[in-house]
Amino acid sequence: MKVLKFGGSSLKDSASMLDVGGIIAADPEPKVIVVSAVQGVTDAIVSFVSKPRQDEEVQEFVNKLKDTHLAILGGVAKGMEIKQQAIAQLMEKLAKLEKVLYGICYLEELTPRSMDLVQSFGERMSVILIAAMLQDMGLNAVQLDADEIGMIAVGQYGGAVADLKETRKNIAPKLSGMLARQEVPVVTGFFGRTREGHVAVFGRNGSDYSASVVANAVGAQVLEIWKDVDGFMSVDPKFVSDAVTIENLSYDEAAELSYFGAKVLHPRTVEPAKERNITIKVKNVFKPEKEGTTIKPGGVEMAGTIKSISYMKDMAIVKVYGAGAAYKSGIMAGISQRLSDAGVNIYSAATSQTCVAMLIDRKSLSAAEKALEDLKAGIMDRIEATDDIALLCVVGEGLGYRKGIAARVFTAVSKEGVSVGMISAGASMVAYHFTVDAKDLQKTIRAIHKEFFGGRHEQ
Ligand code: ASP
Repeated sequence: MKVLKFGGSSLKDSASMLDVGGIIAADPEPKVIVVSAVQGVTDAIVSFVSKPRQDEEVQEFVNKLKDTHLAILGGVAKGMEIKQQAIAQLMEKLAKLEKVLYGICYLEELTPRSMDLVQSFGERMSVILIAAMLQDMGLNAVQLDADEIGMIAVGQYGGAVADLKETRKNIAPKLSGMLARQEVPVVTGFFGRTREGHVAVFGRNGSDYSASVVANAVGAQVLEIWKDVDGFMSVDPKFVSDAVTIENLSYDEAAELSYFGAKVLHPRTVEPAKERNITIKVKNVFKPEKEGTTIKPGGVEMAGTIKSISYMKDMAIVKVYGAGAAYKSGIMAGISQRLSDAGVNIYSAATSQTCVAMLIDRKSLSAAEKALEDLKAGIMDRIEATDDIALLCVVGEGLGYRKGIAARVFTAVSKEGVSVGMISAGASMVAYHFTVDAKDLQKTIRAIHKEFFGGRHEQ
């Protein structure tokens, strides 16, 4: 049994949606489908609610969404009855969305909770289109809203995670029953409901994660994540023209790459699949004959070399100085508590006797400086910040066990005359992270790729 997930980039118009339909219909295995919103719809909702609006703007916006969805529906479902039923279902969702939008506008208040609720409408509408298309193709497809079938979300609005155990208990019987009746469940990605019954999203691009949670819940053997790219690449092809697709990754390699910049999967996607040894396949909707990348349990030899280089731009380093930093207890706790209270995420940290350095998002820099301000009066004597930093992550199973890899990475970097800032190695056995000035990012990536993969340097 499989779970297949399709993202917004393959749901952009009737033609791409029919490609998706072709892939689903060609697969004889019992399957659950998980989908994102139609391309651009979540962005449009987020941007619409980002400022005060008049009544006419709400109507205009809802009408635009209606037109977009009806136009796609017209191209993917021909049967009159199927189409009319889907139109009625879409109208119901749009009417509810309109009410939510009026609520937000009249109250002039957009709480994290209402933000999550309003964002969920993209997926609530896309499942109707996909189910109608599949019904038109002769499949017994049924759309389901994840919150209604018991996908349980915990944690913060905007970035919740699923309670796997509770979700499994809620949704496994329902989906298994449907599969036994040869139905094809089409489930909304991106969100679940809290134990109090409110909608909470799993962060932008969270449908990958939803699909992994569904795969975990139903005990799928395979989770196929269909994208508009061939899979994970050895490097961003924007930097190196002969970047290659990676055929196999371990769970840990895929997780490191996803957290550190490879924008292929939502960072948390690996966790639910890993918990039940589910093979993840990343494939390209527009080139289904290609193998893509397989992420699987065991079976991946400890290659002891680099498989991929990822990066994150727009980072900053905050350094808190004070003599004997490493000897004073509670310093790290104090710093991280202050940063966490200010909503600042620490990506990496390094300490010396005189300094604690932390890597954060550039956009969180002023919040971080403010949060750490009062430390200066006490144990620490100064705070310094550098922005325009890029983080590089080199990933390969067994990197941490094999001699000489780090030497090759840093020799290649130094030959380019690039100076390395913070380094994090040894925490993960499958990855090293280090920072360089943003201006040196491109040449650093190319130098490492050339060292490990050979090939050309130009774009
Ligand atoms: N529609 C949501 C987003 O655009 C979730 C997803 O596409 O995975 O972030």
